Amino acid sequence: MPTMGALHNGHISLVKAAVKACDIVVCSIFVNPTQFNNANDLATYPKTIANDLKMLAEAGCHAVYLPTVDDIYQTPPKQYDLSVYGHITATLEAEKRPGHFNGVIDVVTRLFNIVKPNQVFFGQKDYQQCMVVKKLIALNNMPIEFNMCPSVRENDGLAMSSRNVRLNSHEREISLSLYKTLQFINKNWPGNPQQIIAQAHHLMAEYKEVTTEYIAICNPQTLEVLEQAQPQAVALIAAQVGSTRLIDNMILGN
Ligand code: AMP
Repeated sequence: MPTMGALHNGHISLVKAAVKACDIVVCSIFVNPTQFNNANDLATYPKTIANDLKMLAEAGCHAVYLPTVDDIYQTPPKQYDLSVYGHITATLEAEKRPGHFNGVIDVVTRLFNIVKPNQVFFGQKDYQQCMVVKKLIALNNMPIEFNMCPSVRENDGLAMSSRNVRLNSHEREISLSLYKTLQFINKNWPGNPQQIIAQAHHLMAEYKEVTTEYIAICNPQTLEVLEQAQPQAVALIAAQVGSTRLIDNMILGN
């Protein structure tokens, strides 16, 4: 499974799922510069390599791929025609982080070509990324089985993320707003999507230092915004907590 390091139990859950399903498990650790659209985010991305290697060994990972930027970009970064992906590379994270999915598609393609996995394991935490990688595999007829593993959360519900270490204690408290809002949406689903989203924005607005970027209830495959209730739906949220950007999501009706 591809990671950017600073590993936590969310990453380790992917390793454990892979160890159960596969004979050989390879984890890559590579902070991919082309998927960052914020230079400060890239410069301050946490690095804990010694601890990462220890956690991977304990989880039963067989091999770690730790390339340099030059190893991966033997040829310059590529620009992809994302129109073939349809709506999933045009909405939500794509709107807020221009170039992000082009960078993800480029690095994941390169990593898949190098490691040649039969199965790959990605986290639901990055739901839109999962949909993009699934489509990348399908569009290119890659002989790879895609697995999406559930989001792993802290005891209070905050989705684990390498960026959480940047939160100070007050920010850590108010970062729970994302999970609480997703729970609120889930409790009220199925219902009128526009009304639920409006109420969800009100809930988020109670947390003064949190700036909501988007709250959406979407078709889980296409990520098109739902105009009316349907059984299959996913709620996605992104917000800035202090200087840290957090995302989370929940498959509704569970
Ligand atoms: P990253 O290191 O952030 O690029 O993440 C590497 C992989 O770990 C991606 O497939 C993520 O979706 C997954 N991941 C990150 N956080 C979590 C989490 N809290 N639960 C499950 N998977 C996660």
